[in-house]
Amino acid sequence: MLEVPPRRLHGPGPSPVHPNVLQALGQPCIGHMDPAFMEIMDGVRSMLQKVFKTDNAMTLACSGTGSAGAEMLMDNLVEPGDCCLIGVNGVFGGRLADKAGRAGGTVHTMEIAWGDVFDLDSVKQRVADLKPKLVALVHAETSTGAHQPFEGLADEVHKHGGLLVMDCVTSLAGVPVEIDAWGVDAAYSGTQKCLSCPPGLSPVTLNDRAMQKVKKRKTKCNSWYLDLSLVGNYWDGDRAYHHTAPVNMNYGLHEALRLILEEGLEARFDRHRKAHEKLRDGLTKRGFKYVTQEGHVLPMLNCVELPKGVGDEGKLRKRLLDEFGLEVGAGLGAFKGKCWRIGIMGEGARDEHVDFILESIDAVLN
Ligand SMILES: *Cc1c(COP(=O)(O)O)cnc(C)c1O
Repeated sequence: MLEVPPRRLHGPGPSPVHPNVLQALGQPCIGHMDPAFMEIMDGVRSMLQKVFKTDNAMTLACSGTGSAGAEMLMDNLVEPGDCCLIGVNGVFGGRLADKAGRAGGTVHTMEIAWGDVFDLDSVKQRVADLKPKLVALVHAETSTGAHQPFEGLADEVHKHGGLLVMDCVTSLAGVPVEIDAWGVDAAYSGTQKCLSCPPGLSPVTLNDRAMQKVKKRKTKCNSWYLDLSLVGNYWDGDRAYHHTAPVNMNYGLHEALRLILEEGLEARFDRHRKAHEKLRDGLTKRGFKYVTQEGHVLPMLNCVELPKGVGDEGKLRKRLLDEFGLEVGAGLGAFKGKCWRIGIMGEGARDEHVDFILESIDAVLN
């Protein structure tokens, strides 16, 4: 039998998985067209609607990780020549711009310093000038720890006939995500961040306005696998076979969602906030510095510069992994070699986890 070393997952994902979820994953595999599996899918969908805070019928678990969900939205919602406006303040905004371009869009980016968030008034100004068909921003930029405000942007986008798209891969189930109340037309997430499920599925939701765009496309979606006019029928329609659903992953997600709703979203957000406050105090006392714009620091992803003179960050990270089984993330892009990304996502956002992180850091710093 394969043996996996014990790990404490406190990087940018995957996050710690609840034992119930592991148990659900290990249930016997059944057919993806089995009526019993259809019921499980219905359960996944209705729980996803609650977690996304939406009534969108087109809510599903896209096969693949968060990047597949991003691609599903860009490939389906962008037609060749469509003007797209994408916010780039870290790695994931950059990837969205790349994906919109590959889908044939004419991409305009808004670029600000890594760690900062977009001021919605300036975004609205760009929207009024460009009248883009699609505007996309990252709600929780995992490469910088920035928490982007969304509320109040949708009206301006809709006024000019555009769709508002949100990356909520890291934010979903960790901080409030209000798809309907904020007027977000389409959003995607991932299972391995605050949902505390292994990587493998990407929850996606689209409202009627976004689905109209999909239905009225003049050209076929570039991707066959991610084509919503095909996959959509399996999740919300005549249940026609498209591709084989990752059956056991859906069991895992079903259980992860059940646990989230049992805890309650508000309680879960509160738990993330409290664990973050404890971690932030501890890190700040030890000389770590947050690189994220003040007032916009994500609770579940702490992007911090290492104290001066502690030596090579890569060697310290390796010691955390080798000696304590503790995984923290390296800095990306502009923060490479300077920062750590310490995740307290989902099951990891607890006092005892924060204590363990701080004690392990003390042991390798001294
Ligand atoms: C993790 C992440 C993704 C990509 O998800 P994968 O599961 O790695 O494909 C996209 N956007 C954000 C903000 C993320 O944190």
